Parts: sequence; C-alpha cells; structure tokens
Amino acid sequence: MKIAIDGPAGSGKSTIAKDIAKRLNIIYVDTGAMYRAITLKLLDKKENEYEDILKETKIEFKDGNIYLDDVDVSNKIRTNEISKKTSELSKNPMIRKYLVALQQDMAKKESVVMEGRDIASVVIPDADYKFFLTATPEERAKRRFLQLKEKDNSLTYEEVLKDLKIRDKNDTSREVSPLTKAEDAIVIDSTDLDYEETISKILSYIK
Ligand code: C5P
Repeated sequence: MKIAIDGPAGSGKSTIAKDIAKRLNIIYVDTGAMYRAITLKLLDKKENEYEDILKETKIEFKDGNIYLDDVDVSNKIRTNEISKKTSELSKNPMIRKYLVALQQDMAKKESVVMEGRDIASVVIPDADYKFFLTATPEERAKRRFLQLKEKDNSLTYEEVLKDLKIRDKNDTSREVSPLTKAEDAIVIDSTDLDYEETISKILSYIK
C-alpha cells in the first residue's frame, strides 16, 4: 500500500504521517528530512560542486532516524537556519531529481506512508491514497513556534510566521515540482481539528 501526504510547512504532516504509518504497521518516509540532510551537506559548497557531491552521498532511514553518510543527523537538520536554506536549495532540479529517484526506489520496495510536497503529484502518482494536509498560516506558525521554542528561546512568533510565509511562497512558486494539491487528493484542513481528530479523519478513508 502506498499513501501520499502532502502539505505546507507546519501543517503537522510529519507527526501525523509517522503515527499513521505506525498504526498501519508500514514504513514512514519523511522526504523533507531528505531535503534537509542534503542541504546540511551542501551548506558551504558551490553549485558547480553539487553534481559530484550527490554522486557520493548516502541518505538512509534507520529506526526512525535519518543518516547522512552513516552519521545520524536527525537533530542537526531541525534548525530554523536549515529550514530556510532547504527551501532555497530544494528549487534545484538536480537535487530534486536525485531525491525523487531515491524516494521512488523506497516506495517500490515496500508499503509506505510518504510525506512531503510533491509526493502525490510527482513521486508516487499511483499512490492508493493521497491526502493534502493544511491549516491557516497563523495556526501553522503557532504550532511551529511552540516546537522551536524548546530549542531556541530567542525566536518570536512573528519571526516564525514571517519565515513560514516565505517558505510557503518558495515552495508553491518554484518551477520544478511546486507544492500543489494533486487533483485527486483529499484535503484535510486541520485548523480546527485536534491531533486525534485529524488522524481519525485520515484513517476513515483508508480501507
Ligand atoms: O517538510 P519539511 O518542512 O521538513 O521540508 C523542508 C523543506 O524541504 C520544504 O520547505 C521544502 O522546500 C522542501 N521539500 C520539498 N519537497 C518535498 C519535501 C520537502 O521541496 N517532497
């Protein structure tokens, strides 16, 4: 079974997708983490070096953690700086091509809940279920702020909202694989739903 969950930053996709995978006892793939890991590796590199670097890059998931060249980078990729830079670098067609191939390979091998921006439209258009999870920018910023505050207490809600709107704009306006709702995706708006309600709603569609 293949389940695609797409949506904007802070929509709760990751937590929800992870939980759904656990309840259905199938693999969870966080494609945003893959874009973040590549960004970490390319942070201080020049664009003309990307191609060679990608050829010798290894990205894997083990026990719910993401490994970049055999090093667990799960925590390192969750900073606001990496979020901003990832949204820029993920416009690069070469990086997208590399990661999409890797993701398609994962989905071919086993049942997955795959979560990202272009999963239903590009990565697994033949998914059994496609969901587009969203919420208002203010609600999403509020959730992100509460999450980030634990690591960085110098951040304000206004800054998080501003960055989130920039990321929304980058993600929806880029030329290659922009964030869009696939025509046949089911929209789940979680603005007024709590966590359990959102999960139940998604599960109610899955047979
Ligand atoms: O989902 P998350 O916020 O961790 O993703 C980080 C960034 O990676 C997004 O802002 C987006 O630019 C990029 N991304 C993407 N395509 C995906 C998943 C993430 O472009 N399938």
